[in-house]
Amino acid sequence: METVNFLRDPPSDMAQRRQDLTHIPSGFTLTLEDHDLYWPFVSNVWSISTPANKATTEKTGIETSWWQCRFSRQPGAPTASGIVNSSRRDHTRTRCEVRIKVAKNLSTGIVTYTRTKASEGQEHSHSLDEIDQYKINSGVKNAVLEELRKGYSAKEVTKNFVGKGKASIYPGVIVCGGEYLDTAEVGAWRRDLKLPATEADPRRSGKGET
Ligand SMILES: [Zn+2]
Repeated sequence: METVNFLRDPPSDMAQRRQDLTHIPSGFTLTLEDHDLYWPFVSNVWSISTPANKATTEKTGIETSWWQCRFSRQPGAPTASGIVNSSRRDHTRTRCEVRIKVAKNLSTGIVTYTRTKASEGQEHSHSLDEIDQYKINSGVKNAVLEELRKGYSAKEVTKNFVGKGKASIYPGVIVCGGEYLDTAEVGAWRRDLKLPATEADPRRSGKGET
């Protein structure tokens, strides 16, 4: 199923699962299938700190990776790519130290999520909503890219996703964390795709210029 259709009618527990995968309640587990379903919708919360080691995974049957909160970087600190805060929303959070371990047991099909020892008992210094304002998760972004590739303009796609009232045909976008999508950012994604200009985007097609 296309991601965009998924956003029309996401699972009823999507909002709760996003909270769980952000705050990691004690003893929280998901099936591998559910992990693959929900994890893209918290891609804005976690950035990888240590990827799974292939040899260890093969030996133990458990694929273990370590992740740190997106806000663990000092505000304004350069990223690995050297780009300082390429997002349109500057974040001025205090440093958040929450780190987690994600262990996929490939034989039982169960994924367990635990705080690392160092961040046990710590809470995020911010809410999930604040991260959603800062960065759009890849679940929502992929659906947007699907629509852009069909030829819709950034304005149309944004309106369809987060337009007020009847304008939004994807009410599921909100529970999926896409509330803060805006035309400027969708337009930037569209330019990254290097798609031809559309009729509905006069600035790109030259229409409206006199
Ligand atoms: Zn955090």
